[in-house]
Amino acid sequence: MRGVSIFGATGSIGESGFDLLMRAGGPDAFRTVALSGGRNIARLAEMARALRAEIAVTAYDDALPDLRDALAGSGVQVAAGGAALIEAASRPADWTLSAIVGAAGLPPGLAALERGGTLALANKESLVCAAPLVKAAARRGGATILPVDSEHSAIFQSLGSDNIENVEAVTITASGGAFRDWPLEQLALATVEQASTHPNWAMGQRITIDSASMFNKAMEVIEAHEFFDLPPRRIKVLVHPESIVHAMVTHNDGGTIAHLGPPDMRHAIGYALNWPDRRPLPLPLLDLAKIGSLTFREPCETRWPALALARGVMAAGGAAGAVFNAAKEQALDDFIARRLKFTEMAGRVAHALDRLSGQPGFGESPSSLSDVLDWDAAARKEAACPI
Ligand code: NAD
Ligand code: MG
Repeated sequence: MRGVSIFGATGSIGESGFDLLMRAGGPDAFRTVALSGGRNIARLAEMARALRAEIAVTAYDDALPDLRDALAGSGVQVAAGGAALIEAASRPADWTLSAIVGAAGLPPGLAALERGGTLALANKESLVCAAPLVKAAARRGGATILPVDSEHSAIFQSLGSDNIENVEAVTITASGGAFRDWPLEQLALATVEQASTHPNWAMGQRITIDSASMFNKAMEVIEAHEFFDLPPRRIKVLVHPESIVHAMVTHNDGGTIAHLGPPDMRHAIGYALNWPDRRPLPLPLLDLAKIGSLTFREPCETRWPALALARGVMAAGGAAGAVFNAAKEQALDDFIARRLKFTEMAGRVAHALDRLSGQPGFGESPSSLSDVLDWDAAARKEAACPI
């Protein structure tokens, strides 16, 4: 029986992964090793019971007594905190879904890679912050990394066995998020509630706001650069309000292969679960006649300054990705806490990059997890709102 783990099981991606495992036979088809969550203890316990997990881990030490109570008599082990997440990720499993949000997903992801097996990577922050460490851990563990971001899964599927050398350009699409058509002068007034609604995708709050600001797309451009070893000039972004075409691969012979699908992450997760096979998934099939038209346009960089910041990050290399992500996480925290306007987030990130780019070692890729965490902490400090 295949051993599986989900880190961030109680989130949007985690729930979709859980749904797929349950539909595919649940505990009769999979040996669930570890499930992790945050403060939604009731849901984590319910999932752990349903899949008969070996261990359930909450990220928060103070939530351990509740988790212990919720799983009393179930036979599921319980644990809490960062070290427990790493221990759980080190347990032998064949397939691990990395679905924690933020840089917090990096340490368990690295542990899973060192151990080997397949890492289905939704946590794009891991590649943005620490691609060389992620790749080195995968090499050491003999692990396979599969993308679980709709665009990157789409590129992966469109590429097939084609040689990346023959790829002229990769285009990833962006819905444009909540404020795609807002007058520019109104963006400064955008509220957290308005930014937390997405026209097409149901996702966690943080990535939904990142979609409105296009920080999500900026992260994805860097993710594509790292995942596929593509030079930045070959990665393009198009606004595609219908969210049906997820990515396109243009070859040097003029042919472009696009990947289309309904906006439902269970496709990318299920593809990574079944790879290299394909199996039926509980998704509606596309009805293009019903959709009628698919439209595309260039993104406006005044509306979405995060895209230009991503290009700067790729050009700088070294610690820029870790700084960019952490500064973005801090700015997002401050926006959610209403300490910052929507339009001020990009400025905070640019400020952190600017301040830290002069520091010794900035141009070198972080060589260890603690190196990444140091840059992360420094970036959060620089990006934080002056109180
Ligand atoms: P979410 O907020 O819905 O869920 C996040 C999960 O991580 C929860 O289980 C939460 O308890 C856990 N978590 C949060 N903070 C944590 C911490 N500090 N330590 C340990 N665990 C913590 O997020 P999501 O929308 O499912 O996104 C998860 C990841 O997948 C992100 O990296 C996101 O960019 C990526 N992703 C999401 C989607 C989507 O459709 N939601 C699509 C593509 C990629
Ligand atoms: Mg995506």
